[in-house]
Amino acid sequence: MKIAFIGLGNMGGPMALNLHKAGHAVSAFDLSAAACEALRAQGVAIAASAAEAVQAAQVVVSMLPASQHVEALYLGEGGLLTRIAPGTLVIDSSTIAAATSRKLAEAGAARGIAVIDAPVSGGTGGAIAGTLTFMVGGSEAELERARPVLEKMGANIFHAGAAGAGQTAKICNNMLLGILMIGTSEAIALGVANGLDPKVLSEIMRRSSGGNWALEKYNPLPGVMENAPASKGYAGGFGTDLMLKDLGLAQENAMAVKAATPLGGMARNLYAAHSLAGHGALDFSSVIKLVQKQKAG
Ligand code: NAD
Repeated sequence: MKIAFIGLGNMGGPMALNLHKAGHAVSAFDLSAAACEALRAQGVAIAASAAEAVQAAQVVVSMLPASQHVEALYLGEGGLLTRIAPGTLVIDSSTIAAATSRKLAEAGAARGIAVIDAPVSGGTGGAIAGTLTFMVGGSEAELERARPVLEKMGANIFHAGAAGAGQTAKICNNMLLGILMIGTSEAIALGVANGLDPKVLSEIMRRSSGGNWALEKYNPLPGVMENAPASKGYAGGFGTDLMLKDLGLAQENAMAVKAATPLGGMARNLYAAHSLAGHGALDFSSVIKLVQKQKAG
């Protein structure tokens, strides 16, 4: 299948590579030359522009940071929807506002282009391993068209509902993740302040009633888990500013439906403070710095 892939960052890069390895003819593009080069070095064909990438593509996949990037890419005069052939399937896996996904699906439908939202969970580890969870918003038929492509990048594919529903499921999940990373950080910092070995404490909690995804796969303290972003200077992974964006989307959504999300609101403020302290580009697990005892001097 001819697949265009736009957005080759921490997530999009390995996802595009998995489609390439599965034998699809991938034409990829990113505004960052370094991101393009990293994929070219692994044999993926790089297009000169997004418009060139989508030429003759049967499926277009995008993995961009936020709503404004997706709107700028697809909508408006000269937007990609005017370059994509009718009958093409567009899979947007970026985490963005549900309203933007619905707008995109409507604009696509008006041109005979099916657009589904398919945000993911599973982190960069899941993107590399091809074990992501996809949360799809769109019709059953559109999901079935997308399934063979999604299966090459993920292990779990859920139909959340109509256009935009994938995004709603995603922000519910990430609100929980944002909260539990802070809770996990507090618990580890408390134990360490009492002289406990963080590896031993993490293992005790992982196998006890406090066990959670952060303790399983993404320990926030450097040195506890070799492959976690914490042990790589919080580089790569899922940026604090991306988590802040998702918690903002959750709060906007909560206000729209008058939902009570007190911990989600507090978590958004804590990540905002962490970002203001200059840590926006670090992986979100670096939020432990807010509650960790700093070394004197
Ligand atoms: P990233 O910042 O590493 O990558 C985004 C890429 O998009 C960048 O390389 C940027 O140059 C590119 N880009 C932006 N606008 C573009 C355009 N118009 N044309 C082409 N390329 C463009 O971000 P990421 O971590 O890969 O996250 C991507 C999306 O996935 C976000 O919405 C994020 O919330 C979501 N997400 C991330 C993770 C994670 O663990 N990193 C997990 C689940 C979901």
